[in-house]
Amino acid sequence: MNNIREKILIVDDDPTTVITLGEALKDTYDIFIATNGEEALKRAKAEMPDLILLDIIMPEMDGYEVCRKLKEDIATEKIPVIFITSKNSEEDETVGLELGAIDYFSKPFRMAVIKARIKNHLELKRKSDLLASLSLTDGLTGVANRRRFDEVMDYEWKRSQRSKQPLSVMLIDIDNFKLYNDNYGHLAGDECLKAVANAIVSTLRRATDFVARYGGEEFAVILPYTTIEKAVIFAEKIRKTVEDVKIEHLYSTVMPFITVSIGVASIIPENNIDYIQLIDLADRALYEAKKSGKNRVKYIQNNFS
Ligand code: GH3
Ligand code: MG
Ligand code: MG
Repeated sequence: MNNIREKILIVDDDPTTVITLGEALKDTYDIFIATNGEEALKRAKAEMPDLILLDIIMPEMDGYEVCRKLKEDIATEKIPVIFITSKNSEEDETVGLELGAIDYFSKPFRMAVIKARIKNHLELKRKSDLLASLSLTDGLTGVANRRRFDEVMDYEWKRSQRSKQPLSVMLIDIDNFKLYNDNYGHLAGDECLKAVANAIVSTLRRATDFVARYGGEEFAVILPYTTIEKAVIFAEKIRKTVEDVKIEHLYSTVMPFITVSIGVASIIPENNIDYIQLIDLADRALYEAKKSGKNRVKYIQNNFS
């Protein structure tokens, strides 16, 4: 049973094509429309369609450019793109497919064939989405796993390099967690990890703020376009939120509840350094937080100059 309707974004500057496709597909799918490249990119991000039918020849930004931009953006890169076009030379198809499009529909349409191919593509998309989410999610807490963290970090690092905007990272480590496991048992430890993950997630506000399970009892948060001052305020909010959950931990050296220590680091990335160095700084800050008594936030700011 699948009663969630899939979303298709139709992009074409020609109203006749939009209407023909829209009419043929609207009973099965939720249809969204854009009549130029700029609008297509905006709608793709806002609606996160399951499939995009994309015209090639459009004024200003053509379909190839739209496709390139979609594939460059981590939010939209996985959305399958099918070119619709009156062009049908072999060369055009090759260009489109090399840009990452999965198929090509040429005008005039044979609607039954188009519908069947769309259905197949959407089925494949469903399966690959499921696999992708399983392989990038931490099974216990449901937040992103380390692999996903590395992907997002790499992406945000490059984005900050281009825009010369600060990128902040925090490492969050549960205090005295070994003592918790030893006294309450490993299963209770697992529940505690879930509760801490939920507490962290509940503090996130912007769509680009990102949390991952970084290691056993350690979480990492990426805050793009965020100064160290803002990141520290945010870290303090997370620290307080976890404390306020009041998960009993009578064996903690800090207080009779579960607490976390947080290391924060921020940087405007230069081209000659690696994001690992930013994580190392956050790790050093975390070490300081532990050494100076736990249940606190410490930070390091460095431009490596
Ligand atoms: P500190 O306050 O300095 O951070 O000390 P700690 O005891 O929290 O840190 P330590 O690194 O000594 O211990 C971490 C513990 O986390 C040990 C490990 O068994 C536990 N752990 C790691 N992953 C999991 C997990 O998935 N489930 C449970 N229940 N425990 C885990
Ligand atoms: Mg056109
Ligand atoms: Mg710990």
